[in-house]
Amino acid sequence: MTNFPAQSLSSPTELKLYLDSVTIPFTPACILVVDDEPELQRLIERRLKPQIETGEFQFLFANNGMDALDILRSNSHISVILTDLNMPGMDGWALLEQIPKIDPLLKAIVVSAYGDIQNIRTAMNRGAFDFLTKPINFQDLIVTIRKTLDIVTNSRLQKQQLKTAVENLQYLALYDKLTGLPNQNHVLECIRSAVEHQLDFALFYLALDRFKAIRYGYGKTLAEKFLIQEVERIKSCLQPCDILARIWKDEFVLFLPNIKSEIVALEKASKLHQAFKLFMPERRITASGNTSIGIALSSLLYEQAEDFLRAADTAMHYARIQSDKNCTVFFNPEMQVAVLNRLQLESDLEIGLENQEFQVYYQPIYNLKNRSLVGFEALVRWQHPSRGLIPPSDFIPLAEETGLIIPLGEWVLRESCRQFSCWKNQFPEQFPLSLSVNLSGLQILKSDFSGLIDDIIESNILEGFSLKLEITESILMENPEAVTQYMNQFKSRKIQLVIDDFGTGYSCLSYLQSLPLDTLKIDRSFIMNINYNPKSLDIIKTLITLAHSLNLDVVAEGVETEQQINTLNDLGCEYGQGYYFSPPINVDNVTRLFQKNS
Ligand code: C2E
Ligand code: CA
Ligand code: CA
Repeated sequence: MTNFPAQSLSSPTELKLYLDSVTIPFTPACILVVDDEPELQRLIERRLKPQIETGEFQFLFANNGMDALDILRSNSHISVILTDLNMPGMDGWALLEQIPKIDPLLKAIVVSAYGDIQNIRTAMNRGAFDFLTKPINFQDLIVTIRKTLDIVTNSRLQKQQLKTAVENLQYLALYDKLTGLPNQNHVLECIRSAVEHQLDFALFYLALDRFKAIRYGYGKTLAEKFLIQEVERIKSCLQPCDILARIWKDEFVLFLPNIKSEIVALEKASKLHQAFKLFMPERRITASGNTSIGIALSSLLYEQAEDFLRAADTAMHYARIQSDKNCTVFFNPEMQVAVLNRLQLESDLEIGLENQEFQVYYQPIYNLKNRSLVGFEALVRWQHPSRGLIPPSDFIPLAEETGLIIPLGEWVLRESCRQFSCWKNQFPEQFPLSLSVNLSGLQILKSDFSGLIDDIIESNILEGFSLKLEITESILMENPEAVTQYMNQFKSRKIQLVIDDFGTGYSCLSYLQSLPLDTLKIDRSFIMNINYNPKSLDIIKTLITLAHSLNLDVVAEGVETEQQINTLNDLGCEYGQGYYFSPPINVDNVTRLFQKNS
């Protein structure tokens, strides 16, 4: 079961980068001059003309402390105050005490004719930042203003950054950074409040079945882009009062107030399934947009908000392991065992890969006419440390869902090529033979797949035998453009292509014509009935004719009886594999088979 992670606050480094990017736009530094002597204004404007004209300084003038406070209250741009001490009305001493109340970051420089030490100390004690004596030395004045401005600007910047940081942290505590949606904390708050007020609600836990695989295959950036598009689609099904939150990765929670009936919840779920279709226009690849939805209703009457979330999560995982996709499931406690088992298997699969618990078995393929051996199909097996040998049907779909099929498939390809190369050196007289390896759609779509193939070719391991890659009809039909592009690349590398499980999907026959295929494999489900069901026989006849008209040879899968072989021979099917000849066998048994044939 998913552990609910602590809310992911951005890292300190990220935060620092963000803060560093916060800058205050350039405006002239604004200085307020407070003096009852009108002559001073004229002098400043004359002697500091260059600084005023270049926009470095801008001056405002006040006659006494009262005037100055009025200006300060209405103008937040002032950074520095130059003030006389003796003035009619409010004098400089009183002004100094008022300034921090308006803005503690403001700095005042006293400019007075009475520059004795006593006055200077008193001014400093009352908060003056510096002290200049009259008559003013303007060079000194410029230097002092600049120095003071630097300090004011820096402390203002720090304050601004701090404020932004606090806002950012407050935001991150309740919102998801990537999508801007509320996060888990936020949704838990909603549940808490509904529980407290005994209000009805439905909690939906949604997840894309193949998201892990997409992230594995296409990388984080594209996967995230993709999620953001998905969020928009989900949002299109929501009412204003519904709350959509991102829990983590591809997992979303929808808090729907006022829903208590299962029927209403199901209607909503069905809308969401429609909207939650995956689509990646960037690459023109449609991936399966299956979504699993788990629902917990307020009628479960839990006291803790977390329990509702966990229940919906369990139901979502249960939905995910059902064979029919796009499934919606209401939580019930019996689901927990099944979900835990499945999650255990998922984690075992990852560990199994690390611990090399997988083996490749090989099923011989024969020429049906002269019964000679023509090649093998590599089929993976998992030797689980406690569950024993697990058949591929029990773990390949899981590996595809989680993306682990990519490293697993790569291992099968490398390992079987390596092993085949050994046999070729040991039993050269029995070669050439072909090695067929199954590929998953995800492997093919991974951007560096052709690099893997090049790598294998460059290792010279393929000398003396032909490598055939088996691709199912459904992979082909799901991603025609990407697959065709790869197929052409494989072709130019002298690798043959097999279309597997043929007849079980919905191939567009004219499309097949445009593909660089070599072999068509007829699915076992047709061969099984060939001698009992005239319909199967008809289909097989048609498939063989079609294959031959496209210049493809044909392999029949799952051949179990002599009678089947005879019929297939009559129909012109070239090759076959199945229990009649041999089940898939391990390396030692293949070696024995070679020895027997020597
Ligand atoms: P597939 O590619 O259609 O492989 C043929 C399956 O039929 C194999 O099942 C094989 O053991 C079984 N079979 C062969 N002859 C007979 C027969 O006469 N009777 C019966 N009842 N069965 C027969 P297996 O080994 O359990 O593999 C199942 C599927 O798992 C494969 O179907 C393939 O789709 C997938 N798979 C296996 N290894 C790999 C792999 O390395 N990569 C990928 N992507 N998929 C794999
Ligand atoms: Ca196959
Ligand atoms: Ca097959």
